[in-house]
Amino acid sequence: MEEELFSELRLNDRDILEALSEVGVFITDYLTGRNLSSSVWNSSTYKFDPHDRDESFLNQLHPDDRERARETLAKVYRGESDSLDLNYRLNSKEGDYRWILSRGLVVRKTKEGRPLLVVGSDSDISELKETEEKLRHSIEKEKKRNEELETLRQIISSISSSLDIQETIDQILKQISRLIPYESCSLQILRGDHLEVVGGEGFEDNDFVKTLRFRFPDRGSLSTRAVQEEKPFVANDVTRDFPSLTQPSKTRTILSWLGVPLIAHGNVLGLLAMDGYVRNRFDSHHLELAGIIGQHIAIAMENALLHEKAFKLAMEDALTGLGNRHRMSMEGRFLFESAIRNGQEISFAMLDIDHFKKVNDSYGHDVGDIILKKIARILRKSIRASSLLARFGGEEFVVIMPKTGRTEALNAMERIRKEIARNPFDEIGGNLTISIGIYTGIPRAGENMNSFIIKSDKALYRAKQNGRNRTEADRD
Ligand code: GH3
Ligand code: MG
Ligand code: MG
Repeated sequence: MEEELFSELRLNDRDILEALSEVGVFITDYLTGRNLSSSVWNSSTYKFDPHDRDESFLNQLHPDDRERARETLAKVYRGESDSLDLNYRLNSKEGDYRWILSRGLVVRKTKEGRPLLVVGSDSDISELKETEEKLRHSIEKEKKRNEELETLRQIISSISSSLDIQETIDQILKQISRLIPYESCSLQILRGDHLEVVGGEGFEDNDFVKTLRFRFPDRGSLSTRAVQEEKPFVANDVTRDFPSLTQPSKTRTILSWLGVPLIAHGNVLGLLAMDGYVRNRFDSHHLELAGIIGQHIAIAMENALLHEKAFKLAMEDALTGLGNRHRMSMEGRFLFESAIRNGQEISFAMLDIDHFKKVNDSYGHDVGDIILKKIARILRKSIRASSLLARFGGEEFVVIMPKTGRTEALNAMERIRKEIARNPFDEIGGNLTISIGIYTGIPRAGENMNSFIIKSDKALYRAKQNGRNRTEADRD
């Protein structure tokens, strides 16, 4: 009864065959060559022919899927497999590829085991594949995002750890390349009317780049534009849009540029500039990451600058701007220890204004202050850069002269003494003099520089005793 029904179905009933095809069924009769293609295969331009020995239907498949399909089908033809389970991309009449899943069973075989009749179904699984692809894509994206966040976290923590060391700046610039595909990158600090490069990475000569400074503001300059817009800025076709950009290399041309102004508490501190040597190097995601990194660099930079300021304040005499006693003892010790190590002479001079009390008594403390400032200015310009000058306290100054013998120190101090004696001080309608005591020696290991200060103070006392406006110099 069943047998009869099937033979009827197979050969005669068009409606039923069409319905079967419509729902995806295919029937292939290798004996007669008759074939019922599923509607899925009918959507391709190819008409399946079981006697086609060239397997030309394979040409309808995506090239990457052909070999796999050929092998699976060959197993069925050779009688090595009674079932078929295959997914592949099929070229549709519309010209695009659809993902198809074909499953079938061999229901009649020759004595040798070759297939005579195969029945199966084709389903279009394109949407399923697409969903699967989207899911895979979003998992990958999520993974990439997590990695990126971890890198960002690492960069930020190394930024916050410190920024006052050159090496740290270079290190940070290097790390940024893990997130933003720049080819060269520089950190620039705004000082007055210039942006000065303080860090460079990826240039042919990073040290040379660190000598560069750019006028700010500068019309038509990318840096100026990024700083003035107060937000990260991308130029992806630099030679077309900003032909005046400084090209730091003769062999490569910056074609893309990403600049992040470094702003902390509303103050522009500098700029992080990234270069690409191809067009369209940076996208909006890079811009976003650069913005985040820039915020952290700016805060760290602000801290470093505040630290520098506080450090300067602690080391500087507020009235004269000279180094204070604290600075003298810190930097002086450095010079003193170097003299010990190298067995070199070092001279200490103590300078004291003569009868300064009288100035205060006659003209007031404010005038006294002005005079102190003027004398400090004269001292500053008269003393060699290698020497250390500080206000020791009151109206006393100290000069530490490394690698300087007694005669040389005496000559230098005499020059200063005479210059001050010559200088008219309009505030008091006359002149002022100073007395100086010098002590020169080669310090021994373990010796303290206070002993040199005390000995120069003794020489100063003698200068006062001997009539003031003179220099006394001792040596051991
Ligand atoms: P000499 O050194 O020649 O022996 O006489 P002197 O009058 O300079 O003596 P002394 O060193 O005892 O006095 C120093 C004076 O310097 C005392 C103080 O009035 C004045 N002085 C110290 N520091 C300052 C300061 O910061 N501003 C002003 N205006 N005066 C100061
Ligand atoms: Mg004094
Ligand atoms: Mg004095």
